[in-house]
Parts: sequence; structure tokens; C-alpha cells
Amino acid sequence: MLKKIIYVAGYGRSGSTLLDMMLSSHPDVFGAGEMSTICRHVWPNDEFCACHNRVRACPLWSGVMAEWLAGGIDPAAHARLQQKIEPVVAPARILGGTTARQYAQQTLALLRITAAHRGQPVLLDSSKAPGRALALAAAAADAGLDFRAIHLVRDPRAVAWSMSKPMKIDTEAGVQKRIRAHPAWRTALRWSYVNAGADALMRRLPETRAIRIRYEDLVAHPAETLALIGLAVDLPELAKRGAAIAEGQPIAAEHQVAGSRIRMSGPMALKADLHWQDRMAPAARAQVERITAGRMRRYGYE
Ligand SMILES: [Zn+2]
Repeated sequence: MLKKIIYVAGYGRSGSTLLDMMLSSHPDVFGAGEMSTICRHVWPNDEFCACHNRVRACPLWSGVMAEWLAGGIDPAAHARLQQKIEPVVAPARILGGTTARQYAQQTLALLRITAAHRGQPVLLDSSKAPGRALALAAAAADAGLDFRAIHLVRDPRAVAWSMSKPMKIDTEAGVQKRIRAHPAWRTALRWSYVNAGADALMRRLPETRAIRIRYEDLVAHPAETLALIGLAVDLPELAKRGAAIAEGQPIAAEHQVAGSRIRMSGPMALKADLHWQDRMAPAARAQVERITAGRMRRYGYE
């Protein structure tokens, strides 16, 4: 039975798939990956789950979706609701109306069914969009569920470098659609906007129920960072898991429904991706620094 929702908010390419895999090492936590993608493209296109089955053949998601859809949900209509709510950086209560209520009820039902099928009380949703978090936080409060948030931040220069590389479609390897190369300035602007939304989410949650962490600290000091997360999400056992991961214990995705390619890689040891530091063009780097300077300082980047 679902007792707690942990939501990872932030911008893309920030390491949320890795964080999801690390937190899933806790026996009570099911790391579902980016659940907001289910109706948008994973289910309609029958994309690959991290278990290497297509999602409609996955022993978990086929059962979860059968139950959820039997409750009268139309995936295309739910995706339209998502479009209205998720990009918006305002709490569902303020948005009000049937749309927000419907969105929150349907989403919460999906989370409950997923936790029940897994037999785990803590559901980790790494969808990242702050609007989804705000709507879910309100719905969880009404339903008496414990809602916690992790705002995951990564150096915008690393994010811009990652997004400057195109990727060919390779569904089996976890690349579900062709990814275009994005200019550094565009990534810098979007990084600022989405992180501003995540900051708004952080301000609305009680300090004891939310935490901001940096990708760089997570990979350099996994034991300490997971201990801090453990306090914020009230799962103190995470400190032990973090220490084991720091000592090389492998992490793996089980049924992450969407996320970065590493979810398909099988058990792996934690490793940092800091390639941008010696590969990023100085001009692109300077452009990102100019656009994001204030927020970079705020998050403690040089
Ligand atoms: Zn699966």
C-alpha cells in the first residue's frame, strides 16, 4: 500500500536516473523512473522498460496499466491533462478547477496501483517537472499521504554540453526518440526556468520534507549525500545504502519506465560523468555562464 511519494524535480540530464537507481537500493522504495512519460509516449509507442521487455509485455507495467485503464482512464485524454498541468509552475490548488482535480486524482491512482503491484510502500517518481510535483503534493496532502521532494541540480555547463550532442533513436538501448543537438544558450535558458520552478516547489514544502542536492555531490560523496536525503525523506536506512554504493556495490534499474540510457545497462558501479570539463568549447561555456550566473552562484557553482 502506498504510504509515501518521493518526487525528484529538476531539469533533464541532471542525473535523475542515477539517483533513482541509488534510492531504489532501499527495499521499501520502488524507483519508477519518469512516470509522466507513460501516457505521453511510452505506452502508446510500446517502448522498452528497464527490464528489457516492451512495456506492454513487462510483467509489472502491463498489470499496472490494465488495472489503471480499467478504472476508466483514456491514455490520450490523460496526456492532454498532463500538457495543461505539468509545465505550469503553480500549485494545483491555485489552478483549481476540474482539470487540475482530474489530473491529480488520475495520477495519484496510477501511483497507488504501481505501489500495490510492487508491494512497496514508497514510490519514487523522477518525472522532474515541477508542475507535476505541485499538483501531486496537494493531492497527497488531501489523501493523507506523505509527500517528499528532492530538487536535483547539475552544473548547467555539464547539462548544456550533454544536450549539445545529438542521439540517434535506439529504443532497445533506452533512446526512445531522435534527440536533436541543442544550442548552449537554449539549454541555459530552459535550465534556469525549470530550476526556478523547482525552487518554487521547495519554498512551498516544509523544510523537513524537501532537500536540494547537486549531482556533483551525489557522485563525489554518495554516502554523505544519501544520508542527507535519508533524513529529508525519513528513510534513515539510506545512509547505509549510500555507504555500500560508495564502496562499489552495484546499482541497477528494475522497471524504470523511462529515463536516461543507463537504466538499460544492468547492474553498474556508480561513476561520475564530468567529461564536459575538458571537452566543452570555451565559447559555449562562457555563454552558459553569462545566462545562468545568478542561479549558478545560488547553487554553489564557481
Ligand atoms: Zn519492466
